[in-house]
Amino acid sequence: MEDTVGMECGVFSAIDFKRRHIFPYVYWGMRAQNHRGHQSHGFITFDSKFNVYRSLDLIPKIKKSDVQNWLRKLPGSVGLGNVRYTTSGRLNEDALIEGTQPTLVDTGKSKLAISFNGNVVNTVQLRKELCNAFPDFSYECDAELICRKLSSKLLEGQRLESAVKTCMMETEGAFSVSGITEKGDLFAFKDPHGIRPLCSGCSSSGDVCSFSSETVGFDINGFEYRFEIEPGEFVLATESGFERKQLVPKKELALCAFEFAYFARPDSRLNDKYVYEVREEFGRNLGREYSDLAKDADMIISLPETSDDAALGLHEETGLRWERCTRRHRYVTDRAFILLSRERYSTIDRKINIIDHKLVGKDIIVIDDSIVRGDTTRVVVEKMRKLGARKIHLFITYPRIIGPCFYGIDMATYGELIGSTHKPDEIAKSIGVDSVNYQSLESFVKATEMRRDDLCFGCATGEYPTPLAQRLANWMYRRFQNGHKETGRIYEMDVENTV
Ligand code: SF4
Repeated sequence: MEDTVGMECGVFSAIDFKRRHIFPYVYWGMRAQNHRGHQSHGFITFDSKFNVYRSLDLIPKIKKSDVQNWLRKLPGSVGLGNVRYTTSGRLNEDALIEGTQPTLVDTGKSKLAISFNGNVVNTVQLRKELCNAFPDFSYECDAELICRKLSSKLLEGQRLESAVKTCMMETEGAFSVSGITEKGDLFAFKDPHGIRPLCSGCSSSGDVCSFSSETVGFDINGFEYRFEIEPGEFVLATESGFERKQLVPKKELALCAFEFAYFARPDSRLNDKYVYEVREEFGRNLGREYSDLAKDADMIISLPETSDDAALGLHEETGLRWERCTRRHRYVTDRAFILLSRERYSTIDRKINIIDHKLVGKDIIVIDDSIVRGDTTRVVVEKMRKLGARKIHLFITYPRIIGPCFYGIDMATYGELIGSTHKPDEIAKSIGVDSVNYQSLESFVKATEMRRDDLCFGCATGEYPTPLAQRLANWMYRRFQNGHKETGRIYEMDVENTV
């Protein structure tokens, strides 16, 4: 469900080799991906100089009368956009504005702009290193780390490709990046594990080349999807198409499995499959795995909107009616986490409407994508009980979340995750349902048609694809079990010598 956990960032960039305004493409590419970050947004275009616009909140609508103003503010035929949900840096308003992407670093000798999605794990080490190179450096976001890291290598005289290669070798974490050089070249690259999605596409004439976190960024612009950037790959957009170079050996691919369950838009493609089709299969899997419960239930209810596709699959598999009695108030977009705790319950109430008389005396299966903290689910369940539901069984498409994420998802500590301390029957008791039933990891993998080893399931298994993240997780877990207070984003703290 949307309120459960904060997302990371969305990236879109494009270059028009016929030298027409690029901003409209970048704007729509980002509008299509606003679900990936609600806290801030920004655009940078290039027309012999960099033009920057950054702001908080959702990407605004542009009135017809304002179009020329925007084009004047952001001229040029190369552009980058970003939407962000903060998973690094400070969280006050000034810091949010400071950390809004895309990031532009001007060293006096070189300029470089990037848009970034992911999270750096060896933050402390890189910060120390970069403070030596740039004494004025104040860290507000990981995009700045990556941009400074690249800039420091350019200052040393490295070419862009070798700067990116150094960055790939010396940075641990998830980073899917697109950038513009001071010559106006557009490029993109991905970390050696390919944890976050980033793909390439272009207009049918080939005049416009583009990079996007999700394929919906291309669809909205009428572009054709070309390929997903490989882990450790560097791609340059050129007049004759994309130049691809494998800069470092691909490590084991570890695409975030949570993208399939929750983050990505259902009409995006991951691993060449539409996400909604994978989610439908999740629902069918749950129907097969828990057929005993399904046969005694009266109806399926989905929590709008990320579990709607799984609900359809569950309905197809079991023949149970999918009762569409939960609806989202379409224009209530405030997210629960930004409100005061005393407002939390009423906000969720305001966002989801449940039609009451449908539930009276019924045994229902509520299908959802994940349980992170359990708060939202608890509130919705409480509401369903009040409306007369008799039995409530929760079917969850993502396996039980037992550990934090170090790669850009807002799950930083063990203590905040109900699944790290509670088994499914204990979660059921705490949330107030009759049972909690997770899709098995094996079924989840099968539905994605990927290899198990090509997916990151760190938060569900405790096995992380990168070494420092694994050490941090082990260290955090030991301390958590010994009753130490957890401090939040541990990868931003100077604990590397301790673990
Ligand atoms: S730890 Fe979980 S949320 Fe984070 S990248 Fe891996 S699968 Fe995704």
